[in-house]
Amino acid sequence: MSSVSMNDPRAKYPQPPFKRQSQPWPGLARDMDPRPDHGEHSYKGSGRLLGRKALVTGGDSGMGRAAAIAFAREGADVLINYLPAEQPDADEVLQLIEAEGRIGIGVPGDLKDEEFCRSLVARAVRDLGGLDIVVNNAARQQTRESIMDVSSEDFDATMKTNVYAPFWIIKATLPHLKPGSAIIGTSSEQATDPSPELYDYAQTKAATTNYVKSLAKQLAPRGIRVNAVAPGPIWTPIQVSGGATMEKLEKFGGMTPLGRPGQPAELGSIYVQLAAADASYATGQVYGSAGGAGQP
Ligand code: NAD
Ligand code: MG
Repeated sequence: MSSVSMNDPRAKYPQPPFKRQSQPWPGLARDMDPRPDHGEHSYKGSGRLLGRKALVTGGDSGMGRAAAIAFAREGADVLINYLPAEQPDADEVLQLIEAEGRIGIGVPGDLKDEEFCRSLVARAVRDLGGLDIVVNNAARQQTRESIMDVSSEDFDATMKTNVYAPFWIIKATLPHLKPGSAIIGTSSEQATDPSPELYDYAQTKAATTNYVKSLAKQLAPRGIRVNAVAPGPIWTPIQVSGGATMEKLEKFGGMTPLGRPGQPAELGSIYVQLAAADASYATGQVYGSAGGAGQP
């Protein structure tokens, strides 16, 4: 190969307007129109994570799926967690991991349950034979026009999924992490530029950015790096299963300078970079990918 293909980032992927579409939470990538690209046909590995062992929550779809595929192509064994209703999406990911000759394990279950979070980590350590990459990526996002429409059950579920689960998972993981391990959170441009209709969700993303920075300081003396990825508008099931209004969905990503939403595939390499040993000086960092809008 004498050169890599150039492409225009504006025209690389679908642009708005999008068809109105809605799925029951948590939604399936395979039923979206257009189907998201998670790097299934494009991500090429070069051994950057050979022999590494990764746990990825929300690994069935969206950013988690892009990370899981990229990790496997870089030589890592990967355990993904997702909700039972997402088994069809998860099966596609597990097939792709195994096609790379890597171990792929799917563990369905609800991260709002502390005991489940602990058992998930135990399962990863047992079945992968250790753990050195932990991606806390799963999240709940439900749009509500007013704070008055956010019930205590809503608020609790969002906090449990987005803030408590990473807390529980990281605590369960730490005794197993050796120097050189990496913890990665998925934050959002919402952390610093919250939308009015994402009152509860947006503050959990601020919490994510914050915990990554505090833990990075706390764990540096143990040689464990902690970083976050902060996406802008990305075409994933979270948006079509209550995460966005139909009006927002039709124009999704159109307000960014690139004029379109991102695809999960466009973020897979960022998770790889943050996990890889050659990023050894990056800790407490937030890597953005938002089409020219937002900031980490
Ligand atoms: P997604 O729907 O593909 O992924 C979210 C995943 O969270 C689901 O697949 C599901 O498996 C998991 N999940 C939710 N509740 C759960 C629970 N109680 N137990 C277990 N798993 C649960 O959507 P996505 O956009 O890829 O989301 C991934 C991350 O990206 C989230 O942290 C989200 O906040 C963040 N993010 C997304 C966008 C965007 O525009 N799509 C922008 C910024 C940040
Ligand atoms: Mg999903």
